[in-house]
Amino acid sequence: ADWAAAVAAVRGLPADGRVLLICHVNPDGDALGSMLGFGLGLRRLGVRQLQATFPGPPEVPEPFRALPGLELLVPAAQADPAPDLVICFDAASDSRLGELADRLTGPGTALVLDHHASNTGFGDVNLVDPAAAATSVVAEELLARLGVTLDAGIAECLYVALSTDTGSFRFDATTAAVHEMAARLLATGIRPGDISRRVFDSRPFGAVRLFGEVLGRARLEPGAAAGHGLVWTYATLDDLARHEQRPYVLEALIDPVRCTAEADVSCVVKQTGPGEWAVSLRSKGATDVSRVAVALGGGGHRLAAGFTGRGTVDEVVEQIRAELAVSESSGGAGRPT
Ligand code: 5GP
Ligand code: MN
Ligand code: MN
Repeated sequence: ADWAAAVAAVRGLPADGRVLLICHVNPDGDALGSMLGFGLGLRRLGVRQLQATFPGPPEVPEPFRALPGLELLVPAAQADPAPDLVICFDAASDSRLGELADRLTGPGTALVLDHHASNTGFGDVNLVDPAAAATSVVAEELLARLGVTLDAGIAECLYVALSTDTGSFRFDATTAAVHEMAARLLATGIRPGDISRRVFDSRPFGAVRLFGEVLGRARLEPGAAAGHGLVWTYATLDDLARHEQRPYVLEALIDPVRCTAEADVSCVVKQTGPGEWAVSLRSKGATDVSRVAVALGGGGHRLAAGFTGRGTVDEVVEQIRAELAVSESSGGAGRPT
């Protein structure tokens, strides 16, 4: 990683230089947390002309509406068209930036902070660490190299990012270094119980009932994934409307689905429009789901990936089954991406 170039890009900003922070579409805890935490750090460095934004509707999912630094957010339509420095968080490619992708090709410097192995290196300076548990790990290191000391606001943002991407410190990426970073964040006085309750354990009752209905139609296909089974379900826009829920409540749906002991691969197919679906894939280890997602036009990590599906639910799931069969016949379990 080119730390020196990244530090120079920030330090070399002109007085009153304009900085635009962007993250991937449908932002999750890591995208928003690393972006806003870094933004608060830049503000402490004296950067005044500072905006943060993400593509699509400017709606922050309820679990993240208490994040410090939300005041930095502007709707994508109002984002600076030609900033001196653009910093992009948690996006593996510019296709994840929607209408904001053009900011990377403007006259300013484009700095990319990410942790996807599939990152395409679309910035002028790329800090991409596939071994990092979250983009916030990269963000914390860059803040340290810029001489920014953590305060509670920065720490809360980075903690939300780290705890969401590690599944609350359960996934394999949860190294000793991750816990050491969590310790530095907690040392600022932030309250992990309060944060976790807001981020993980607060759901409208309508969403609880919606989950019940959608989990009730889950299907287990014992032979579909590397001999270890596929479990999948789907949710339509009509399901959301009947329960009066916003689409982001479905982001958490993969968690109860992937608990299925009989399945190595789990999948949730979420309707986003007519014949269009956001597909989440998870693996317990025997299957590389990023390979499946990349083959179907998406991306992600070995154990967590996604893509945009088209057609009917059955057509989308059939594409997944077909790709899983390819993985199996090519000994896909350990195949690098
Ligand atoms: P999730 O299922 O939580 O939406 O996403 C899991 C992982 O897959 C994330 O790392 C995310 O970057 C990646 N991912 C999800 N959907 C897409 C997609 O449509 N395109 C790409 N390139 N990556 C995706
Ligand atoms: Mn993300
Ligand atoms: Mn991430």
